[in-house]
Amino acid sequence: MHSRREFLQKLAVSTASLPFLSSNFSLMEERPLRVAIMGLGGYGTRVAEAMQACKRARLVGVVSGTPSKIKAWQAKYNIPDKNCYNYETFDNIKDNPDIDVVYVITPNALHHDHVIRAAKAGKHVICEKPMALNAKEGQEMVDACEQAKVKLLVGYRMHFEPKTLEVVRLRKKNAFGKILFFQGLSGFEIGDPNQWRLNKELAGGGSLMDIGIYAINGARYMVGEEPIWVTAQETKTDKQKFKEGVDETIQFQMGFPSGALASCLSTYSMNNLDRFFLNGEEGFAELQPSTGYGPIEGRTHLGPLNQAHKTHQTIQMDEMAGIIMNGNKPVVPVDGAEGLRDLRIIDAIYRACQSGQKVSV
Ligand code: NAD
Repeated sequence: MHSRREFLQKLAVSTASLPFLSSNFSLMEERPLRVAIMGLGGYGTRVAEAMQACKRARLVGVVSGTPSKIKAWQAKYNIPDKNCYNYETFDNIKDNPDIDVVYVITPNALHHDHVIRAAKAGKHVICEKPMALNAKEGQEMVDACEQAKVKLLVGYRMHFEPKTLEVVRLRKKNAFGKILFFQGLSGFEIGDPNQWRLNKELAGGGSLMDIGIYAINGARYMVGEEPIWVTAQETKTDKQKFKEGVDETIQFQMGFPSGALASCLSTYSMNNLDRFFLNGEEGFAELQPSTGYGPIEGRTHLGPLNQAHKTHQTIQMDEMAGIIMNGNKPVVPVDGAEGLRDLRIIDAIYRACQSGQKVSV
């Protein structure tokens, strides 16, 4: 005897190929997005924990090079042997109909290869930020996913955070008037000097790739425009810890078509730096903390922001299920093109640091 859920899942699969059905066809909503996490490290662990509260996404598989981690995750999350892969066997995921999407949560330099392999295996992909090491790689990933006809999303959890979205909503309805200025401060004091984040080969850079990207991305969704130029200055106080190509602190400025300006700080050497400030002719918004795991706190000239906190990764994965399964459109995009825009700006900021010149984006 089949359960109602099994029946609905089968029906959803068999109707998925019928393009004339409305994207919010109610029976399809019954079927969860079936996710395999690749990279069972610090953040992968956090995502897996948060997914336990998801209504629309379910952890069903893992990809890891460490057999003991696979065993522990299998036991904790009830993952069957047939949904477990290592980096050698991973391409066989193409023959597994029980996994819809691979969530790549490995060090930055591996995203390019991992995303392209997942796409070639016919799986949708969610990739952690930064999507790649540079815009060239990012473009190749977008192209590979397009060619394979799979969706590519970037793990931009703030794009679903309620207080952030309230500021975006207010800006869109012109509550701040003409936007003039954004300030983004993103940083923390990094510990262990031997971690991959301080290895140029694996990280692709330093603080800018890892934490400064929040100020770049935040400037874009808070101001609501794409920057057309950047200037940037790098400061390094510890050349032992922050080797060649690994930036410790970068201050950067961005100019937007409307004339709005952004002034941002990205650093691995200061704590308590997680603040966004948006200023317009008729009001302001302030978020502090602005991109940590929360709760996010904030206010505008109209008063405090009171939207309830919910674990970011839980909302993200439920919303991403809607994007992948039903074609939902998020308020702030999270697709590969969005990840690529940030990478183009990162490339420009590094060029501006080296040349000392204003660089067009
Ligand atoms: P981590 O070091 O805790 O985990 C990385 C995992 O990748 C480990 O399990 C490691 O074993 C595995 N791995 C596979 N191949 C590897 C290799 N060749 N070298 C080193 N490790 C390898 O790192 P993390 O903090 O989980 O970060 C992973 C990714 O997630 C990064 O891209 C990071 O920017 C991103 N991240 C995003 C957020 C967010 O809020 N969206 C937060 C933290 C990290």
